Amino acid sequence: RAAIETAWPGIELLVLPADPAGRLPAEALERVDFAYFSGDVYPDYSRSFFAAAQGAPNLRWLHTFNAGVDNPVFRRFLDRGVVLSTSSGSTAQPIAQSVIGGMLLLARPFLRWAAAQRRRAWEPVPASEAPADLAGQRMTVVGLGAIGTEVARLARAFGLAVTGVRRSPRREDDPVERVEPPGRLEELARETDWLVLACPLTEETRGLVSERVLRALPRGAYVLNVARGEVVDEAALIAALRDGHLGGAYLDVFATEPLPPESPLWELPNVVISPHNSAVAAGNERRATEGYFLPNLARMRRGERLVNEVR
Ligand code: NAD
Repeated sequence: RAAIETAWPGIELLVLPADPAGRLPAEALERVDFAYFSGDVYPDYSRSFFAAAQGAPNLRWLHTFNAGVDNPVFRRFLDRGVVLSTSSGSTAQPIAQSVIGGMLLLARPFLRWAAAQRRRAWEPVPASEAPADLAGQRMTVVGLGAIGTEVARLARAFGLAVTGVRRSPRREDDPVERVEPPGRLEELARETDWLVLACPLTEETRGLVSERVLRALPRGAYVLNVARGEVVDEAALIAALRDGHLGGAYLDVFATEPLPPESPLWELPNVVISPHNSAVAAGNERRATEGYFLPNLARMRRGERLVNEVR
């Protein structure tokens, strides 16, 4: 509250009650110009928040703690001319750390060690079954934005050669060997041991990782998805994991969430699942508020262009 009042002295602050049924009276909603979805999440909070924001007739700007705004709830604000900005970047570090954690679980024999540990069995992996060296392997990061860039930076510390895919060309400080434009994924897949998905879900990326792309990956390659489930053909992914074409996967996002209990993904060996939770970290709300919302509030006050404005 104090920081908001410092960013915009005299601003009137209304806080939606911390209750799923929380409502603001209609006359209060009429005075709302800006709304901040701070990610203070508890069941049904989002529903009551977005209902309140939609019910604010004079709303001009909505800032959200989210990075991805493919959920249709956001489209409705854009359609009524509300400026929308995100906190893309505020969770890039923990998500990238989860990606690297998933990579290490799959690249080193942790799943095998853990299974033996549960049986109290001392079962060293013999040299004849030693996993491939990670250094020198090739990673392709689709979506070299806030998350993808952090994944690339960390992966290079393990000696991987990283290719990034994004629309804009290579910048000097990109922590990658090369940057490729979208549209060549099948070709790139042929020389990819680790395929990382960190792009937004758009018409262009829906189903981008098709059966053809998955089959173009070398045998034993891995898929790491922290983008959105719909970026991958999930049925083709399951088939490629089942028949051993793929070596494994770390999946945080799924075509249907929560992942249904009957999904074969739960049971596949060499699949590491996190329940759309790769970002979880105590510092996220502070990073979103201090790093994105408050600076944008100050920019809004000065009439400047916002950071992470969705167009
Ligand atoms: P960002 O905007 O910083 O980066 C996205 C990058 O993707 C940009 O570089 C953009 O050029 C690139 N891109 C766009 N279209 C592309 C295409 N067709 N092919 C390849 N690259 C393309 O966003 P970010 O903060 O890094 O987040 C990326 C996405 O990750 C979000 O849109 C969201 O869907 C997802 N995400 C997931 C979680 C999670 O909890 N798993 C959390 C945050 C974000």
